[in-house]
Amino acid sequence: MAKPADTKTAAGRKPAEKASRSVAETEKIRAALAARRDDLRAEYDQTLSEITELQRDRLTDSAGDDQADTGTKTFEREQEISLANSILERITQVERALERLDEGGYGWCEKCGNPIPVERLAAFPSATLCVSCKQLEERR
Ligand SMILES: [Zn+2]
Repeated sequence: MAKPADTKTAAGRKPAEKASRSVAETEKIRAALAARRDDLRAEYDQTLSEITELQRDRLTDSAGDDQADTGTKTFEREQEISLANSILERITQVERALERLDEGGYGWCEKCGNPIPVERLAAFPSATLCVSCKQLEERR
């Protein structure tokens, strides 16, 4: 059943570095986080201008509106506002991640202490678990 494990010691290979990331890797994470933050900020600005537009619509062409129209517009505006708030929250998360990256406390799995892969951090800046720990967590 279980395949014989490869017990060969990786002779000549450098031992897996523990508890340290290369500068290049840290820079890669920083760049990914900064890019994410810029994207989110652009998205946030976009949402804000949509809110302003909705607000203007509401003020200028509400003359012929019945209550249903007004209700829809209020709903749309509330949707946009909650979207803006959630973007803002994500920006805060990314900024906090950048701070922790500077302090060296970012990007490590809270469970097993292994470094979380750069790709995962780029996709989920607020990730605090590596993929396998996360999967274990979800299976429970
Ligand atoms: Zn882990």
